[in-house]
Amino acid sequence: MKLNFLRKPTSRREMLRDSVAVAGSALLAHLLPATLHRASAASYAQQEPSAADLLASMRAKFNAAPIQTQKLADNVTMLSGPGGSVVVLNGADGKFVVDTFVAPAWPKFKEALDGLGNAPVKYVIDTHWHFDHTDNNARLHAAGATVLAHENTKKRMSEPHDLPVLYRGPDGALAGLHFDPSPAEALPQHTFATSYQLQANGETVALQHVAPAHTDTDIYVHFQKANVIQMGDLFFNGMYPYIDPGTGGKIDGVIAAADKILSLAGNDTKIVPGHGPLANKVDLTRFRDMLITSRDRVQKLKSSGKSAQEALAEKPFADLDPVWGKGIINSDQFVQVVYLVV
Ligand SMILES: [Zn+2]
Repeated sequence: MKLNFLRKPTSRREMLRDSVAVAGSALLAHLLPATLHRASAASYAQQEPSAADLLASMRAKFNAAPIQTQKLADNVTMLSGPGGSVVVLNGADGKFVVDTFVAPAWPKFKEALDGLGNAPVKYVIDTHWHFDHTDNNARLHAAGATVLAHENTKKRMSEPHDLPVLYRGPDGALAGLHFDPSPAEALPQHTFATSYQLQANGETVALQHVAPAHTDTDIYVHFQKANVIQMGDLFFNGMYPYIDPGTGGKIDGVIAAADKILSLAGNDTKIVPGHGPLANKVDLTRFRDMLITSRDRVQKLKSSGKSAQEALAEKPFADLDPVWGKGIINSDQFVQVVYLVV
């Protein structure tokens, strides 16, 4: 998908507008169908899609992925596909499900869960507040599950949010992703402040909050016996990550979280990223090193007084792009994101 925000501005007013516009259209580009994104970015004179349309398109795009099932241990299964990774601990005590895919994935998600056995879903654990991880909370709660998350996940889901990286329309009005507060039935019923531990199905499941990283709501989930650590969006395996400037995201926190997991993990530990294939310590080390390089380069450009647009023009990640720039977030988008969270 081609981004066209680097076109030469034709007026000072447009140049100013573009400097605000750039990050939002960049961020959304890969998540939107080509036609819709062209409508949003190609011409300010044309009507832009509503925030609701944009969100619906993102859900549809995530939902295009089928669910793939991968067994990680006797009673621990990874489901990957429509909006990242879900892990299920299954057994006589019921199913414990971490993250829930996007809403339109519900029929195939339910089918995948049913395929693991007859035990009801007892707990749903959210790694953070984002919709592609919490969208099916309400459905699973209606089926009898208790939703468990960090207290900030409940707080963030209870608030309206406007993505701060947005483009501007011809009238100067802000447009972009808007999240209404989640309905009461989608909110966690059970929250914790720092850490929480569950014993079930012969497994110890340790939940741990980290300092603001991808958002200020992140936890990782350690299945201790199975030797599996699920990181949610603290880890995008093999691709540039999104870091959410609107709800407390900080690149230093993502680096610290990676270091923390690297200190916990052994060479055989299975590490489940929020997006991308199943990983191990080597993969996470590469991701951490890429983040340090990216942070240092963008910090230097920012400290020297360069705007986000000027930093982007320097192509600071050119050598990293062949490996990292082909996922959800491309190089130009990641420059903009890092600029906001260093
Ligand atoms: Zn996320």
